[in-house]
Amino acid sequence: MEKNIRQLDDIIWQLDLRVDNETEFIAPYLIKANEDYIVVDVGPTCGIPELIRQLKVLGVNSSNLKYVFLTHIHLDHSGGLGTFLEFFPDTQVLVHRRGTPHLIDPDKVLWQSSLDTLGWVAEMYQKPVGVKEENIISIHEKTFNIKVNDLEFDWIETPGHASHHFSFLLKSKNIMFCGDSVGMLVPSLDSAMVPTTPHPYRMDSGIDSIKVMIEMCPEKLAFAHHAIMPDAVSLLEKHINQLNRWKECVSACLEKNIEEEEEIAIEIAKMDEESNRLINGPKEFGGLRKALIGSITGFKNLVISEKT
Ligand SMILES: [Zn+2]
Repeated sequence: MEKNIRQLDDIIWQLDLRVDNETEFIAPYLIKANEDYIVVDVGPTCGIPELIRQLKVLGVNSSNLKYVFLTHIHLDHSGGLGTFLEFFPDTQVLVHRRGTPHLIDPDKVLWQSSLDTLGWVAEMYQKPVGVKEENIISIHEKTFNIKVNDLEFDWIETPGHASHHFSFLLKSKNIMFCGDSVGMLVPSLDSAMVPTTPHPYRMDSGIDSIKVMIEMCPEKLAFAHHAIMPDAVSLLEKHINQLNRWKECVSACLEKNIEEEEEIAIEIAKMDEESNRLINGPKEFGGLRKALIGSITGFKNLVISEKT
């Protein structure tokens, strides 16, 4: 098997799209349910040719790819969906109801707001193409259960990173696919966990979401960026602690008039060893580093808004 395709389990693969030549960043999961398949988060437009190529290698085609499960609609997770579905016209997409209008008409808000928040990264991801309404199943409930052949999934709304974020538990394996709601996990930086808290970050709901996941007692966490890790509950608890420490640090920085994200990052690196591995890590993690700077912006705006 080629190195970009990793089989993690008897029914789960991770497809590293090497977007912008970066490994361990954009890597959709593929799940096999008997003869059918599910892709979790297709990634941005620029990664779709590589995703389609890898799916072909694995024997996934337009008749056996039943579903795309979307954790949320940020460009790095769903920007390529419209392009992808041109090749998989019968595949159904599960997404939070609030994401649906933006998938259908990405020009209106999604593309512009992505350019504003992500800058060159959005350009690199490329502009999303609109998705046809008939491909979308909008989830209106806060919890949702779906069976795909022999596999059962419990979906739970997990706002915080985004207001329309869903996570889901693959019940037979007790794996929680947590999207971006528990930060990022970088295997080659000794499994460093780093917050993903872009503006507008809702910390209260973010922490409540993590607590709901803890109550479900998952065994493993499948991070969208980018690994399946054991000891899920201790990672979830550790992340709550990390979020609180980040907030304290950003708050202390602002009080000392340290306001630039890059300067705040230096202070975060001093108090959070795992974030330090990315902040002062190898240069090739440009996209991950950009996401980390975005997380600092999220905390900065949160602290400022709580003061006013
Ligand atoms: Zn993401």
